[in-house]
Amino acid sequence: SGKWARARAIVKELEDKCGTPIGKLRQVADAMDVEMHAGLASEGGSKLKMLISYVDNLPTGDEKGLFYALDLGGTNFRVLRVQLGGKEEGVVNQEFEEVSIPPHLMTGSSDALFDFIAEALAKFVESEPEGFHPPPGRQRELGFTFSFPVRQTSICSGNLIKWTKGFNIEDAVGGDVVGLLTKSMEKIGLDMRVSALVNDTIGTLAGGRFYNQDVIAAVILGTGTNAAYVERAHAIPKWPGLLPKSGEMVINMEWGNFRSSHLPLTEYDQVLDYESLNPGEQIFEKLISGMYLGEIVRRILLKMAEEADFFGESVPPKLKIPFILRTPDMSAMHHDASPDLKVVGSKLGDILEISNTSLTMRKIVVEVCDIVATRGARLSAAGILGILKKIGRDTVKAGEKQKSVIALDGGLFEHYTKFRTCMESTLKELLGEEEAESIVIEHSNDGSGIGAALLAASHSQYL
Ligand code: ADP
Ligand code: MG
Repeated sequence: SGKWARARAIVKELEDKCGTPIGKLRQVADAMDVEMHAGLASEGGSKLKMLISYVDNLPTGDEKGLFYALDLGGTNFRVLRVQLGGKEEGVVNQEFEEVSIPPHLMTGSSDALFDFIAEALAKFVESEPEGFHPPPGRQRELGFTFSFPVRQTSICSGNLIKWTKGFNIEDAVGGDVVGLLTKSMEKIGLDMRVSALVNDTIGTLAGGRFYNQDVIAAVILGTGTNAAYVERAHAIPKWPGLLPKSGEMVINMEWGNFRSSHLPLTEYDQVLDYESLNPGEQIFEKLISGMYLGEIVRRILLKMAEEADFFGESVPPKLKIPFILRTPDMSAMHHDASPDLKVVGSKLGDILEISNTSLTMRKIVVEVCDIVATRGARLSAAGILGILKKIGRDTVKAGEKQKSVIALDGGLFEHYTKFRTCMESTLKELLGEEEAESIVIEHSNDGSGIGAALLAASHSQYL
């Protein structure tokens, strides 16, 4: 019937607009490489901020003692403590707690947010087991993973450039986030020093390096997306001071803000961006990351409902609610292997209150999920190729057996299997068989927390 023809036409057009043939991915990778150079050349030289992390040494494995870490950057925040035993013993003990952030705190005042965090941290410290206390007279030390763009002024201080991922607390922008946390800790008498302020990508890179010395970059695919990598210090023209002794500097790319004319953007992406909390910003992130994939699918289904009566004569009211379709639900539909697509049916019913969907409708919904996830996964692979190009690791030199390991983490990578496998196979495809053998993607399970604790240890005031 005409209805199906119209629906199919919408999906067909979507598929065309979302296309990511290898040639296009190479253009994206090249553009990433170019923007990386520009961002390193001068402050504000690119959409890619290429932030200097002040991490010029990654963990060696010698780190010792009790350290805390706090991970803030999405819907949950985590507090953890790690007992490090040096080369011989590694991570002796590790405990963590996860606390979800009440949504009103994500758009309220900075005092309210940081007071809440300090409170949760204090409670966690109280549960410190007997035998794991710091030596008398010593302050507890914390690695603070804060996964928003920060202009660092040292390893343990930095000013918030902007919020992303649904956070929007105006009075914090421009402020020193370590100062804000410290003030909230002091208010409640929690005696703790923030000895390292890092991004989740930096934490993941550090955590990855602790276990595997071949780790050279880290990528987060979670609520948002970002990447960090080890750069040669002399390749950072904008670096203001003396070059670090190690000759290296970890760079927080803030790649979520990457944009390029080569990115396949659709009308859905444009309107999503326009109606977002941060229009014009984080365009790469809005194509790739967990916060947005489900929302893109919702917008496509809404259009099909409106213009092709896809779900019947009236538009299902729930389908009009932004962000109602979350990426985990999209993923569950996408992975539905039952012959009658029963998961798709129940997700559409439970979340969108669309009942009695036919198998044909369900199949089309899966197709839409596939188009959106495939585009995101392939673009992520292109981004990784961009990094490898920048550091000259996209080609193997004759006789060289150098491995390059990229530590990946984040809920999207971890749980969205089709996304992950598509990203991995696309990277192989881009690299070619021989090169692909030297590049390893490693899941760094919560490396960022351990990484922050390790960096707190290597920047301890007691060293
Ligand atoms: P954050 O990025 O907030 O620090 P995570 O790394 O745990 O936290 O990522 C959480 C995100 O991962 C969620 O917002 C969601 O988009 C995505 N995610 C979680 N579970 C799944 C899933 N089963 N399928 C697809 N995406 C998922
Ligand atoms: Mg995270």
